[in-house]
Amino acid sequence: MTLPIPPSNMIRICEQCEHGYHINAAVCPHCGCSSMMSYSDRRAVEVLDLEVYRDYFLCKFEHSGEFQLFPGSTPLDVAAIVKILSKTTIVTFNGNSFDIPVLTYACSGATNEQIKQACDAIIQQNLRSWQFYDAYGLQRPDWIDHIDLIEVSPGQASLKA
Ligand SMILES: [Zn+2]
Repeated sequence: MTLPIPPSNMIRICEQCEHGYHINAAVCPHCGCSSMMSYSDRRAVEVLDLEVYRDYFLCKFEHSGEFQLFPGSTPLDVAAIVKILSKTTIVTFNGNSFDIPVLTYACSGATNEQIKQACDAIIQQNLRSWQFYDAYGLQRPDWIDHIDLIEVSPGQASLKA
């Protein structure tokens, strides 16, 4: 027996810009193209991993590729990252507190040094994500479909306190 696909897992894929968007939207919020020019699809599941060092940043999607930033590199390919995020359900461990805020900051144009400092702030000052978004002048990316495993594994959740 196959389970029915939950509606929230279905999205439209824009045929013009290839971003994903809400199944009920009439136009693509990314390029303004009519939803007539789209097809429905199920969100793919992607494991997201970040690596942060003072001179190296890596955003790695399990299936869709890697994005690097280091001194002298081309800027982070934010458009490509947003495109992936618009079409997938991201799976992380502790992503609500760490990966998503850090990736949001990295996508705002932060340097390696700044990204590393932000990570240190989250870890050492135990910043809550809303405090982080506030302190760094960022908008919480509510549009990202995200499963944080720390919140669905009760045994691990107690480690947060
Ligand atoms: Zn579009």
